[in-house]
Amino acid sequence: RLFNEVQELKGNIRVFCRIRPFLPGQKEKNSIVQYIGENGELVVANPSKQGKEGHRQFKFNKVFGPASTQVEVFSDIEPLIRSVLDGYNVCIFAYGQTGSGKTHTMTGPKESTKETWGVNYRALNDLFNISQSRKSSLTYEIGVQMVEIYNEQHTLGILTQSQPSGLAVPDASMHAVTSTADVMELMETGLRNRAVGATAMNERSSRSHSVVTIHVRGMDLKTSTSLHGNLHLVDLAGSERVDRSEVTGDRLREAQHINKSLSALGDVIFALAQKSPHVPYRNSKLTQLLQSSLGGHAKTLMFVQLNPDMNSFSESLSTLKFAERVS
Ligand code: ADP
Ligand code: MG
Repeated sequence: RLFNEVQELKGNIRVFCRIRPFLPGQKEKNSIVQYIGENGELVVANPSKQGKEGHRQFKFNKVFGPASTQVEVFSDIEPLIRSVLDGYNVCIFAYGQTGSGKTHTMTGPKESTKETWGVNYRALNDLFNISQSRKSSLTYEIGVQMVEIYNEQHTLGILTQSQPSGLAVPDASMHAVTSTADVMELMETGLRNRAVGATAMNERSSRSHSVVTIHVRGMDLKTSTSLHGNLHLVDLAGSERVDRSEVTGDRLREAQHINKSLSALGDVIFALAQKSPHVPYRNSKLTQLLQSSLGGHAKTLMFVQLNPDMNSFSESLSTLKFAERVS
C-alpha cells in the first residue's frame, strides 16, 4: 500500500528527511529548521545569508522532526520491510554528514534498549515474528550478513544463514539465526572482532559504508514453490566535504573514495528515478554490491539526515541538494 502511490510517480524510490534533536549540553540552540509541513515540506534558513542560499524550501515523501521517535519512524517503513517476505528486494540508506544521526536511525544509540532500537533490529524482529505467524502455509529461512566497504574494498563480512541465497560477498562467515537476540549477539561479536579500537572504530565508521543484509527465503511445501527477498540496511559514510588543501595521504584517499561512491550512488538513484535506460552501477563497490536490489521491482528508501545546528548550515544544504536530485 505504501508504495502503490509512489510507484506511479517515481518508480520505487522514496526519500524521508530526519532531523536529529539538539544534544544535551549543546549550548547554541540555533536551528536551521524554519518549517516542517505535514506533507513532507521542509524550509531551512540561515538569517546571516542573503537571498536564495539563506532560505530554501524542499519537498520529501516525509519529514521527521527532532521529536520523532524510533517507533514513529519504523511505523512508516514497516510495510516496506514486510514486503521482503513476499519476495521483494528493498534497500534502505541513511545519508548525511557525520553526527547527523545516521547510526541512530539505522542501529540506535550505543546502549540500546527495545525502545530505542534502530531500523535494523526492528526490521529483523518484525521479519522473524511475521515469518513465525505464517508458519502454517510458508516456511522461511532468514539469514543476516554484515559487510563494511572501506576505500572501495569489502573489509568485513560476517554472519549469515545456513543456506545462503545470492550471497554477494565471498569470505563472509555464516551462522544460522533464529531470533533477533541471536543476531544482536553475532553483530556485537562481529563488531568486537574488527581489528580496531573503539575510538578508531568510531572514526572509521564515519569513513566506511556499513551494509547489513537480511536474506529471506520462503518455501511453500505444498506447491513446492519458493521466493527470495533481500533487505539491505546501509549506514553510509559521512557525506561531509573534506577540504583538499588540508588533508593528504590516507585521509585524502579516503575522502576521494567516499566522494566517488556517494556520487555513484546518487547517479544510480537519479537514473532509476528518471527511468533512464542506462543505470551506472559499475562506478562503485557499493552500487555493484547492491545492483540486484536497486532498480527493477526493488524498492529504495533514503533517509536524509540533518544536524539542525546553524553551524552546519552549508553542510546541511549540500545534503539537501543531494536529496533533491534523487527525490
Ligand atoms: P552519524 O552516524 O550520522 O555520525 P549518530 O547516529 O552517531 O550520527 O548521531 C550523533 C549523535 O546524536 C549521537 O550521540 C546520537 O546518539 C545522537 N542522536 C542522533 N539522532 C538522534 C535522535 N533522533 N534522538 C536522540 N539522539 C540522537
Ligand atoms: Mg555513524
